[in-house]
Amino acid sequence: MPPKVDREKCDGCKAEKESLCEQICPGDLMTLAEDKKAYCRMPRDCWDCMSCIKACPKGALETRIPYQLGYHVAKLIPMMGTNTITWTCIDINGKVERFQYINRGMLD
Ligand code: SF4
Ligand code: SF4
Repeated sequence: MPPKVDREKCDGCKAEKESLCEQICPGDLMTLAEDKKAYCRMPRDCWDCMSCIKACPKGALETRIPYQLGYHVAKLIPMMGTNTITWTCIDINGKVERFQYINRGMLD
């Protein structure tokens, strides 16, 4: 499932050339439309690595849980901190849980 783009929040990274989600996508799937809003140009090729979601400085990208798992209501939202990542999980009943981990790079 490709990331869902909040077009209100996305500012195209104010990029002249490549936005952060374009730079980080290992499949070169993210790009900017003419109006400088991001979108996934080949949704079927996205393998949900979530790199673009973690990289977005505006919180404009959101993962879409496959309907088999969450009926599109469930969400998994990463928030990058200085040395941690916090995952917010919202299940299909709206229950919210948060899990915080130290980033791998900080363990070295
Ligand atoms: S990283 Fe976020 S703000 Fe930047 S272009 Fe992509 S979705 Fe938009
Ligand atoms: S989730 Fe991964 S593969 Fe899919 S568009 Fe984002 S960076 Fe690319």
